[in-house]
Order: sequence, then C-alpha cells, then structure tokens
Amino acid sequence: MLKGKTAVVTGASKGIGKAIAIALAKEGCNIVLNYHSMVSDSTIKEIENLGVKCMPVQGDVADFAFAAQFIKDIKKEFTTLDILVNNAGITRDMLLMRMSEKQFDEVINTNLKGTFNMMRHASSLMIKQRSGAIINMASVVGITGNVGQANYAASKAGIIGLTKSAAKELAQRGITCNAIAPGFVETDMTDVLALETKQEILKAIPLKRAGSVYDIANAAVFLAKNTYITGQVLNVDGGMVM
Ligand code: NAP
Repeated sequence: MLKGKTAVVTGASKGIGKAIAIALAKEGCNIVLNYHSMVSDSTIKEIENLGVKCMPVQGDVADFAFAAQFIKDIKKEFTTLDILVNNAGITRDMLLMRMSEKQFDEVINTNLKGTFNMMRHASSLMIKQRSGAIINMASVVGITGNVGQANYAASKAGIIGLTKSAAKELAQRGITCNAIAPGFVETDMTDVLALETKQEILKAIPLKRAGSVYDIANAAVFLAKNTYITGQVLNVDGGMVM
C-alpha cells in the first residue's frame, strides 16, 4: 500500500525518527532522511538494503528558507511527496521561574516552528497532488503539561493545534494530518533523566514499561496507511493519559 511512495522524516538520524524511517522503508517507501548534526553511514545502508532509495539531507527545520529549499529538492528528485513525518524535536528543561529566553525560544523554534516550516512548504506540493499524509510528533505533555517543561509542553500543545487546523484546511484536498503523542520512550532524549525520575514515570504507566521506538514507528505506519483518519492525536503511551 505504501510501496513506491516518498516519505520525509525529520530528525531521523537516531531515536524515534530513525525507527520511523526504517519502518516506512520496510513498507517500500523511498526515504528522505533529514538530520541536524550527523547521520551514520550504517543507518543509510540499513535503509538502502531494504531495496528503497534513501536521500540524506542535513539541515535545521527551524530555518524557514531551509525548509523551502528542502521541499523543492524533494520535488526535483522524487516528483511527489506522499508522507511527511515531523519528528525533529529537542528539550531544554528548566522550571518556569528560571527558564531563559534562549531555552524557551530554542524549543519553540525547533519543535513548533520547525513543524510549521515543513508543513507550510510540503502542503503546497501535496495540495497540487491532491493527496498526502502529514504526521506530527507531539507528546502527552502537550496535553497534560509537565513540571520543568513549560517550553516543551507549549511547543507540543502548539503542534496539536497546528495539526487540527491543517487537518481542517487540507481535508478537501485529500490530505490527512494527525499527531502522535508518545508517553515515555527510551531514547537519548530521555536517557538524561535521573533514575528516580524514570522510576516515578514508570509507576504512572498502566502497562508498566517504557515505550520503545518501534511502538511509535508502528503508529506512524498505521497513520500513513489510513486515509480516513484526520485531525486526531494518537496517544502511544502505555495508558499514561486516558
Ligand atoms: P532524540 O533521540 O533526541 O532525537 C531527536 C532527533 O531530532 C535527532 O535526530 C536530532 O538530530 C533531531 N533534531 C534536533 N533538532 C533538529 C533540528 N533543528 N533540525 C533537524 N533535526 C533536529 O529524540 P527522540 O526521543 O527520538 O524524539 C523524537 C521526537 O519524539 C521529538 O519530537 C520528541 O519531542 C518526541 N517525543 C519523544 C518522547 C520520548 O520519550 N523520547 C516522548 C514524547 C515525544 P541531532 O542529534 O543531530 O541534533
């Protein structure tokens, strides 16, 4: 069903993004793999060994001009852009009363503006095609809020609003737009948390385990395949938020 489609995954050098890129490649998608600082040759080889093309593109999703050029390059290489996964994200945790302007701006610029930038340019191409699936990486903290993450939670809540608005605007052109809200997933992003914090989080998960990157990748493939789900936030969180 996804065979031969073009899928763009931002922040795909590691963690959840890498797992999504590989899962979509397994479905037969050609992959445009965005990364920020570096990507290993073995990641690109792993994707190519699945019999699909892999186009690695370095760049900062927070840069509006980069996003515009990125989408132009994809059109030139593949003609169509069928699946856009806005996964790139960062944290700069700090209590609100101590949070610097820089910590706030960096998180909003990468997570929220980065998602806007990519959607803004990709949607014009998808509108001309009259098809496409956009999947944005939110978080359960965008729904619940979280101590020390005012910047991050605001960015993820913003992504949910952006997703629902775009879903309404783009539905008439056959484009779906959904968000995934992961709970606690074991990646480099969460590896920095103190052991006690991790244990506290685990206690709050009804399924009593952290999520794996494959749990999130499976949800992304499901949303990419389903053309009758739009404007939804799919919590993939072991039951953390019900
Ligand atoms: P991760 O392991 O830290 O990976 C983040 C990826 O985003 C990296 O490839 C990183 O590249 C890239 N990135 C960062 N800034 C970027 C930029 N400006 N432009 C392009 N790429 C950029 O994190 P993860 O845990 O896989 O998280 C992936 C997404 O899931 C994020 O949006 C995160 O907020 C969300 N999420 C994660 C969890 C969790 O528990 N892990 C929970 C809820 C939501 P560099 O390393 O080169 O900077």
